[in-house]
Amino acid sequence: MAKRNRGKTISHLPENGRGTCPICERTRIKLLYPYKTETNQTIKVCKNCRPKEK
Ligand SMILES: [Zn+2]
Repeated sequence: MAKRNRGKTISHLPENGRGTCPICERTRIKLLYPYKTETNQTIKVCKNCRPKEK
């Protein structure tokens, strides 16, 4: 899976993938990373709040 969070790939998303991050509450930031909450919901968070995977 190559660079799926970059460039044109995100332009088909609602608001071009932008919104308000539920964690740091910045507005108009790109929410690109799925994050699993304690209640087992998957939400999108910004790059600053993404789960550490690599
Ligand atoms: Zn954030």
